[in-house]
Amino acid sequence: MLFPLEVPLPFSIRQEEQKLILTLHHVTAQTDTIFLGQNPVIDRIDFSQTHPDRVEYILTMKTKQQWGYTTRYEGNTLVLAVRHPSGKPLVLLDPGHGSPNDLGARGPNGYPEKDVTLIVAKLLAKALKNKGIDVVLTRTKDEDLFPQQRVEMINRLRPTIALSLHYNALPDNGDAEHTQGIGTFWYHPQSHRLAQFLHDRLTLRLQRQSYGVFWHNLALTRPTIAPSVLLELGFMIHPQEFAWIVDPKAQKQLAQTLADSIVEWLKT
Ligand SMILES: [Zn+2]
Repeated sequence: MLFPLEVPLPFSIRQEEQKLILTLHHVTAQTDTIFLGQNPVIDRIDFSQTHPDRVEYILTMKTKQQWGYTTRYEGNTLVLAVRHPSGKPLVLLDPGHGSPNDLGARGPNGYPEKDVTLIVAKLLAKALKNKGIDVVLTRTKDEDLFPQQRVEMINRLRPTIALSLHYNALPDNGDAEHTQGIGTFWYHPQSHRLAQFLHDRLTLRLQRQSYGVFWHNLALTRPTIAPSVLLELGFMIHPQEFAWIVDPKAQKQLAQTLADSIVEWLKT
């Protein structure tokens, strides 16, 4: 969608169930025509001057699931690009941490999170490829990657979904013996359904405890270009959970269950 303006203006975007709302600030609208051609994702566009210097454009989508959006200025024209799924799905997997400078959480024997995130990401990539899904990884070996570099890869590669894989560390004053389970994090509403779905499938099918599904503003849940979810697949420091985390058979089962669930979700 193109919004030709006299000068570039500050704007904000709010996502709601089946709606994407663009607010332009410090503006009095001179909108007299909105043209929406045959559009695969947008059902309707409404506009209103909600405040003397604020205008809202409300995009009502055809489906409940939204697949991402980006915004940019081209000169004085604000461009809002709304994605729709097309062609073969591409899943981006981001194995958390990844170098001697960034080990992540540690197991009871010092085993680093960075190693198990990579093992599971590779197993998951293989399982997804076996199902005909294209996969890309943010790293395939030890590598110093800042969160921002991982985010830039997501924005550049435009995957259908992005999954960041982590294992949890104990919160301050946490109880190592009694804190366990899978935690799932999302930020934009477009990511919530995926987060809840994967969380439910993993805890149910693998009989793992649920630590919970959380709204959380994290670098790897913040991308808007695709539904982006961060998984904390267990607590490194919990003795029994750690045994499950590093068990090669359990890792394979986890990867297979995640792959099945991703494929199932992409079909819904
Ligand atoms: Zn981590």
